[in-house]
Amino acid sequence: MSETTSASKGIVYLVGAGPGDPGLLTVRGLQCLRRAEVVVYDYLANPQLLEEAPAAAQRIYVGKTAGHHHLPQDRINALLVEKARQGKIVVRLKGGDPCLFGRGGEEACELADAGQRFEIVPGITAGFGAAIYAGIPLTHRDFTTSLGLITGHEDPAKKVSSLDWSKLATGVGTLLFYMGMGNLSTITEQLMAHGRSPDTPVAVVRWGTTPRQQTLVGTLENVSERVRKARLGPPAIIVVGEIVTLRQQLRWFDNRPLFGRRILVTRAAGQAGSLSEGLRAAGAEAICCATLEIVPPPDWQPLDTALERLPQVDVLVLTSVNAVHYFFERLFGLGLDSRALHSACIAAVGGKTAAALAGYGLRADLVPDRQCAEGMLAALLKRGVAGRRILYPRSQLARDLLVTELRATGADVSAPVAYHTRKPASAEEHLSRALGDGVDAVTFTSSSAVEHCLELLEADGRQLLSKTVIASLGPLTSATIRRHGLRVAVEAAVPTTEALIEGLEKHFEGVDGPFPP
Ligand code: SAH
Repeated sequence: MSETTSASKGIVYLVGAGPGDPGLLTVRGLQCLRRAEVVVYDYLANPQLLEEAPAAAQRIYVGKTAGHHHLPQDRINALLVEKARQGKIVVRLKGGDPCLFGRGGEEACELADAGQRFEIVPGITAGFGAAIYAGIPLTHRDFTTSLGLITGHEDPAKKVSSLDWSKLATGVGTLLFYMGMGNLSTITEQLMAHGRSPDTPVAVVRWGTTPRQQTLVGTLENVSERVRKARLGPPAIIVVGEIVTLRQQLRWFDNRPLFGRRILVTRAAGQAGSLSEGLRAAGAEAICCATLEIVPPPDWQPLDTALERLPQVDVLVLTSVNAVHYFFERLFGLGLDSRALHSACIAAVGGKTAAALAGYGLRADLVPDRQCAEGMLAALLKRGVAGRRILYPRSQLARDLLVTELRATGADVSAPVAYHTRKPASAEEHLSRALGDGVDAVTFTSSSAVEHCLELLEADGRQLLSKTVIASLGPLTSATIRRHGLRVAVEAAVPTTEALIEGLEKHFEGVDGPFPP
């Protein structure tokens, strides 16, 4: 972002953050967030979205839990005007849609009065998100053709309600009440008193669209008692209408196999993507906690020397996606390209490594059945490598197995360090906090992740770890876990992300989740 900020550049984007699931932010909202210099956010906007803003952006929390305002509205308004006047690109991130029971209109009026530029980016409102994620489609020709969005926050002591209860009770099909948990009994009583049948179905959806989503179903007559017993509090949406019965048929989110489970992913930063996405797709809350990071080696010389000899190499052995990327990065950096490999046979340890290789336009000649160093060794020995020149770029932590065994057969092995694996700076605090908050399972996808994790944890943390379900990607990782005196509850049938998730699903099958229906 440019250093020179002219006042004319100043703009406020009033952005709807959506109901909770970060995937429900709009494309426009994401564009704004990625350009932001200042982000002003509150309680209902998912904090995960803040990670999308540039690291240098100023982040200002202005609070707002019911009855608990961190910064009064007029101060928020003044803050937005002030930041825009300083020429900043400001994103005002608000839960759901900014203009629906969210004071977005008031903030926009303030900006308009002050002559400041602004843009409003609509969002998916919590009522739509929560109902739909609970399997309630809001309208359906067989049930209802109209929908009302209502504030349930009215002061019950008010003598004359600004809501026309008789029209609401009988004139609108589906009713969505926001901020209504404190007034639930008044709402249900008013609707019944004004002619809505006491057995009208009602759903209360709390923390909709998130892994914490909880849904309680009842009728106008009994729902407030049920909510009281279940101690269900805000934030929740109250859905009233026959349409609620469709949930039985259309439940799709909160019945996923890992729904509501908190699962810690200890993979390297930047590599947790596919595992955490897969876990989320299975309904889990994936908590990413990098216990290792991949960085360039302190000295490129060994790899560079090996690359100069590339035309003479018979076999290139790649045992990780990182090895592939670092190998090519350096190759290209030296002004060479894939043609330097024209006469080499390329062996990739598994599907992911072969896919990374394919990204550089090359097909692996050899992919062993077993995706580990032992599998690779067996495949190479079968092929016959005596007297061959082998290049094996690897991490400083790689075991010596391949090098020793291949040399023993008479191969000429060069194994330069192509990348380093190390512990990230803030990992310790991050990991202890995640375990302290409570998790249902911890996943390990490599021995170095296990080693790093245990080095990072104090006695308390190790204690917590020993009590959770530990899931491992394969036999080598499991052996490392056991060597540290921990029990492996789940081991992937084959060492892939998909199989690890399947293993977790099987483990939790039939075990009551945090929110039984
Ligand atoms: N502008 C917001 C609403 C703000 S009012 C929107 O469009 O969604 C705050 C109310 O929204 C809460 O009291 C609750 O009723 C509802 N709400 C917000 N997030 C929610 C969620 N994830 N699940 C259920 N209700 C939610």
